[in-house]
Amino acid sequence: MLNIKKLVRSNILDLQPYSSARDEFSGSEGVFLDANENPYGEFNRYPDPYQKELKQKLAVQKGVDIDTIFVGNGSDEVIDLAFRVFCDPGMDKALTFTPTYGMYDVSAAINNVKLLKIPLNKEFQIDRTTLDHKRDDKSIKLVFICSPNNPTGNLMNQRDIEFILENFNSIVIIDEAYIDFAEGDSLINLIDKYSNLIVCQTFSKAWGLAAARVGMAYSNSEIISLLNKIKPPYNVSKLNQNLAVQALENKALYKAHLKRILSEKIKLKNALDKLDVVKKIYPSDANFFLIEVTNAEAVYAALVAQDIIIRKRTKLVPNGLRITVGTAQENQSLITALKNIS
Ligand SMILES: *Cc1c(COP(=O)(O)O)cnc(C)c1O
Repeated sequence: MLNIKKLVRSNILDLQPYSSARDEFSGSEGVFLDANENPYGEFNRYPDPYQKELKQKLAVQKGVDIDTIFVGNGSDEVIDLAFRVFCDPGMDKALTFTPTYGMYDVSAAINNVKLLKIPLNKEFQIDRTTLDHKRDDKSIKLVFICSPNNPTGNLMNQRDIEFILENFNSIVIIDEAYIDFAEGDSLINLIDKYSNLIVCQTFSKAWGLAAARVGMAYSNSEIISLLNKIKPPYNVSKLNQNLAVQALENKALYKAHLKRILSEKIKLKNALDKLDVVKKIYPSDANFFLIEVTNAEAVYAALVAQDIIIRKRTKLVPNGLRITVGTAQENQSLITALKNIS
């Protein structure tokens, strides 16, 4: 077990956090004259700073304790907060495996933290032989592993993730934004086993609430307290908390949409397979495909000209394009447009 305190920035350990009105009194009954709120209106009161109703529902769904859950303004907030808890700007480093999600890079740069990038192998898996020189680098405070990985689509091998959890003196963040589309298991069940593990999930993808900005981190209560200590006091609005609670109360609809997306995904892959313009389709555990074409810029431009927008990933993967699975009709429009190109 790692000593987490040794990884935390000393100013954060010493920090006296802001104590909001709802920190000092959290009961729900009474005459509230403590927060300078307007007494009139429907959304006049500050929201619950710790999102208890939402966390209670998540705790039941995930089979974890409430104090192992952090809720953020999207999981992108968790990524930024992790840099601010663990990385001294200009000194510490973070590590990730490329190609991967661009926010790790941006968040690292905003926080003036060097992000080391180790290439994934041909199957987009972690190659353990590339880790030898990094294991002993005490300045690496954070390791980001995206699984299923964006933009490649594949789950990472669990044994490689556990190898890193066991061998690095770092916090390891597993970004599971797409886990609900995958057949493999979430690693949330490992948060008791590894004191340095944080698992991020989100309402933005499979739950269909990208507009609401609600993301989660699951970890031990010590790490969760550190994230709570530095977050903006009311980081998730009441409207957004309500939307997430409603989604969890309406699981049947969510499951129906998920099922449809997964069956459309199979149809889309079969259709893409038949097109000459598509040179390669990478295996996907997510709701998108990374494909390779001969001339990605030309294919992208020709699709845009037909009002179909996909994601150019050519800087990450040569001639790589990322295609999100849409509705049956949207996918059909894409296939028709691609046929016009080839
Ligand atoms: C979409 C995505 C997220 C989601 O971020 P939110 O801030 O929760 O919307 C996180 N990680 C990855 C890899 C993603 O692709």
